[in-house]
Amino acid sequence: MTDKRCTDGVCIPGYIKELVPYTPGKPIEELEREYGIKDAIKLASNENPLGPSPKALKAIEEAIGRLHRYPDGSSYYLKNRLAERFGVSPAQIVLGNGSNELIEFLVRVFVRSGCEVISSAPSFLVYTKVVQAAGGKNVIVPLRDGRHDLGAIRAAVTPETRVIFLDNPNNPTGSVIYRSELDAFLHALPNEVLVVMDEAYMEFVQGGVTPSGLEYLERGDGRVVTLRTFSKAYGLAGLRVGYGIMDPVLAGYIERVRQPFNINSLAQAGALAALDDKEHFNNTLKITLDGRSFLAERLAGLGCRVFPSHTNFLLVDVHRDAKMVYEAMLRQGVIIRAMTAYGFPDHIRITVGLPYENERCISALKLVLTD
Ligand SMILES: *Cc1c(COP(=O)(O)O)cnc(C)c1O
Repeated sequence: MTDKRCTDGVCIPGYIKELVPYTPGKPIEELEREYGIKDAIKLASNENPLGPSPKALKAIEEAIGRLHRYPDGSSYYLKNRLAERFGVSPAQIVLGNGSNELIEFLVRVFVRSGCEVISSAPSFLVYTKVVQAAGGKNVIVPLRDGRHDLGAIRAAVTPETRVIFLDNPNNPTGSVIYRSELDAFLHALPNEVLVVMDEAYMEFVQGGVTPSGLEYLERGDGRVVTLRTFSKAYGLAGLRVGYGIMDPVLAGYIERVRQPFNINSLAQAGALAALDDKEHFNNTLKITLDGRSFLAERLAGLGCRVFPSHTNFLLVDVHRDAKMVYEAMLRQGVIIRAMTAYGFPDHIRITVGLPYENERCISALKLVLTD
């Protein structure tokens, strides 16, 4: 291979050397110490402000005593419960250490050096990193008016295209794909191309404004893979459980490449219980939708442009340098996300919080913007 370069006698492919490290946010306690603030609130990672499902916590407590055992490598109960919920066979479900791991599995199965993978920009940053780490070629199609441009994505397909990643709703804009768009897109797409619908925020979508990839799979379109997660609506981001629903043959290949115990026993117990915690789920939905309307209205009142969102976060044009706004908000004890790394240097992303957190966020932003 031509893109191998040697350093200190060790061969590291060029595409690995060129990977940009993910810069994780600092722990909240560290920020509080650094900035001399107290009671900071975090509205930066689209987490559930209500916390984890109480039923999940109870199930995890009960599972702790069995930690000397290896987990059930087939995640039998969780898989079966999910299969029942979605009306598919357990053989169509693959579990991952977060849906992030499923993205890695799909790339591992489909992408070799030289293969092309299409994703939008801005969208979830993980797709391009994983593809690059596999030596694949990222083909990036810009969003159009904050939405996936399916026409341009179709036009970017070549004989080398293996996978297309679509986060629906999109992170960071919160926009969705309309049914007519997806219908036409899939109709025109060559049969060999896999379409991954990353539906991390689908639980927040109201009124069926966008179709799930599951509908297409159900109608026999085996190219469509749907990814979901327990990290957002279910409030279990720290537990790391995501799942993919797909054609059983494809699921079989992913089962072959995964590690046998990729879902730990506490994660299996917690996710299973969270699925049946209707009350927590409904509360989450209500607090998110109410908080989202509140924030959108107040942000508009502050002169910001707010992208219409179908998720638990808002993309906001603050008409000035987002990094400065991020820093100034931090000094007020409110952690939000600057969208600079997503190519939106004047935008911030705010996760919907609890009512008092949303109020504090607006008060802080008002101070920052009138400064
Ligand atoms: C948050 C998020 C995920 C979730 O990742 P996990 O690994 O399941 O925590 C996936 N896709 C998108 C677009 C997201 O924003």
